[in-house]
Amino acid sequence: HDEEAAAKAAAINADNGAPTIFDKIIAKEIPSTIVYEDDKVLAFKDISPQAPVHVLVIPKFRDGLTQLGKAEQRHGEILGQLLYAARIVAEKEGILDGFRVVINNGPSACQSVYHLHLHVLGGRQMKWPPG
Ligand code: IMP
Repeated sequence: HDEEAAAKAAAINADNGAPTIFDKIIAKEIPSTIVYEDDKVLAFKDISPQAPVHVLVIPKFRDGLTQLGKAEQRHGEILGQLLYAARIVAEKEGILDGFRVVINNGPSACQSVYHLHLHVLGGRQMKWPPG
């Protein structure tokens, strides 16, 4: 089963605080299609889109936020900026009337990259509940 394999792969990939591929994307050592950028936030197209619009919104400075579950009070400002950036992305991508924001947290949610990121998805009818 593809789904089982994906869940297993995600579970093996633990939160060990190591640098991730997103550091290279932020440093522009790996190319990405940037949708929005400011001094704190970067938004770029997901390499494996799950909807016609699929953009990742990340903090440029991870600052301990390998996953949402590691958030502390001091992260409040960047968390708000990320959510607001998701709205800017939705507007830029023309999906402001209907879009979904997802955060996968930890192995059982299939998080695969341990640098906090919001998925902004849209451009098709989204289903509920998600898988
Ligand atoms: P997660 O499974 O919630 O951790 O999401 C990680 C996302 O990063 C997945 O949707 C991947 O497709 C995406 N991703 C991984 N590597 C790259 C890349 O190099 N460029 C863009 N997106 C990536």
